[in-house]
Amino acid sequence: MPAARVLIIEDDTAIRSVVRAAVEADGGRVFEAATASAGLQLAAAERPDLIVLDLGLPDADGRDVCKRLRAQGPVPILVLSARQQDTEKASLLDSGADDYLTKPFSTLELRARLRAQVRRARMLRGTEHDAPLRTAGLIVDFERRSVRRNDQEIHLTPTEWTLLQALARDAGRTVTHDQLFARVWGREYGDAQKYLRVYIAQLRRKIEGDPLRPVLIVTEPGVGYRFCAPEP
Ligand code: CA
Repeated sequence: MPAARVLIIEDDTAIRSVVRAAVEADGGRVFEAATASAGLQLAAAERPDLIVLDLGLPDADGRDVCKRLRAQGPVPILVLSARQQDTEKASLLDSGADDYLTKPFSTLELRARLRAQVRRARMLRGTEHDAPLRTAGLIVDFERRSVRRNDQEIHLTPTEWTLLQALARDAGRTVTHDQLFARVWGREYGDAQKYLRVYIAQLRRKIEGDPLRPVLIVTEPGVGYRFCAPEP
């Protein structure tokens, strides 16, 4: 597998070197930019596999940078944010970021998130987009619309299947309540979070080993849900 090429756009040198160390620890290669304008140029010139973007840049608003990067192509964007509010996170994800980390973060967490995004980018790019997804004893076969856990066929209702598919196709990425609600139910109904709580609980009872300690469908409080990407 070729080394991941990661662009980090961040004005704080200390955080740049933390990200560099994390990427290099997994055999990746790093490009650094300290300003939004330098970052946008590097993104266009180097076509990285993944962009780590700080929201608080000196020359532009991080959200605008995010939109402009998104307009350049489908590269995954991991946002580093100092802000705490969950609504901020949800609106960031809704506006084109693929994942976020709130500062301060641990190196282990950063590496896990980076690996998940690189895997996801490769999954999206590869021709095997519709290949079955295998993780923790679970096999999701998108073409046959079937789910097996420990070699047992699991029967899902159409809504449960659509919800699982919406999460699994974006494995490794947090999908917001609004995004899930739109994908599964359209937007005609009322309270997205209430619907999702009910159906996520149903789904967990069917696919998780221990539904009270879910490892496949993880809750991002106030933001949405994440299907854990399979390890290669
Ligand atoms: Ca900053």
